[in-house]
Amino acid sequence: MTTEQNRRSFLKKLGLSASAIPFLGATANATNLQSIIPYKGKQLGVALVGLGNYATNRLAVGLEETEHCKLAGIVTGTPAKKIQWQKKYGIADEHCYTYGTFENIANDDAIDVIYIVLPNSMHPEYVKRAAKLGKHIICEKPLANSVKEAEEMIAACEATGVDLAVGYRMHFEPFTIEAMRIGQNEEFGKINYMNTDFGFKIGDPTQWRLKKDMAGGGPLMDVGIYCVQAARYITGKEPISVTAQFGPVTDLERFSEVEESISWQFQFDGGGPVVSGYSSYKTNVERLYMSAANGWMELSPAYGYGPIKGETHKGMMDFPVVHQQANQLDSMAKNWLDGKRIPNHASGEEGLRDVKILMAIYDAAETGKSIKLS
Ligand code: NDP
Repeated sequence: MTTEQNRRSFLKKLGLSASAIPFLGATANATNLQSIIPYKGKQLGVALVGLGNYATNRLAVGLEETEHCKLAGIVTGTPAKKIQWQKKYGIADEHCYTYGTFENIANDDAIDVIYIVLPNSMHPEYVKRAAKLGKHIICEKPLANSVKEAEEMIAACEATGVDLAVGYRMHFEPFTIEAMRIGQNEEFGKINYMNTDFGFKIGDPTQWRLKKDMAGGGPLMDVGIYCVQAARYITGKEPISVTAQFGPVTDLERFSEVEESISWQFQFDGGGPVVSGYSSYKTNVERLYMSAANGWMELSPAYGYGPIKGETHKGMMDFPVVHQQANQLDSMAKNWLDGKRIPNHASGEEGLRDVKILMAIYDAAETGKSIKLS
């Protein structure tokens, strides 16, 4: 079979049409074609920085499935975690770092990519420090808690020529990729309305997610960002202004610093769709609904680790359930192995765009005014 035949055969297996190819981007080439032709080439070494819940339960697990990259190093401030991870993943001492020895990664040839998985407020410092080490960087969402910091992070990476990616895993998830295709191609006609909600009941009242200086805000910064992303990747358009409202505070113990819930409405140019969003730390909700001139689409659940489920007016969507983080990491690594930059949709610039919108949503909720988005 030729490579192109393999590609078509893989897409068929995936249940995707050839028209989905542009939206799959590197994912089809990278992760999945290689499951037909086993990959024996170079793997990029990834160092995870901050061994918390996401790094431990999702990224490290995903890195066991990836073909184009592998776990090669760790950065942790907790000595006990270093021992546990060394035992579990066989990482030698020379690839284990603390926040104090972080800069030594510059001399570690086993590490090609630094993945920042720290609390939000620490992203700017560690991205800027990592930018000097000559390795590509992935930073978790949100890129930063302010526009200024996000701009500084991008500038720091540009200055040293390293690539900055954001851990936008949904861009590598098949149901979401198909939903993007349907929305952006106006497959069901012009989009009139979209509603996008993501919230969950938060636990431990002492955690950093509830502290403004670390989290930057409440559910909007944490999970509402997925809804902001969806509004942009389903319509393929940029909102021109936003109005927003904070929800009531029913739990003063938890929500003394950050919002408990927030709703917002995006306006688009030229009679574009009405898009409303909602995010909460008090309600379990996870849904994307789009109504267009000739049909509708719903993803529910839409943003979790999966399985994502989708339906349109034509019936249930049928796509493979993937390990989202493995797909994301493999696709990013494949780009770098091919000598390409991270595509725009998962770049630092994309992260900055979202931070600008998040800040505008807060501004709108605080002032009660419609805030213009540039
Ligand atoms: P955790 O609190 O579980 O982990 C954060 C880790 O950062 C800690 O375990 C610790 O690791 C390190 N750390 C260093 N300094 C501090 C500090 N002062 N306070 C707290 N932790 C510190 O957070 P998550 O893993 O849930 O989130 C980390 C990042 O990943 C966030 O930006 C979040 O938004 C993002 N995230 C993304 C998800 C996605 O789906 N894309 C899902 C979940 C989170 P150590 O002990 O090793 O030093």
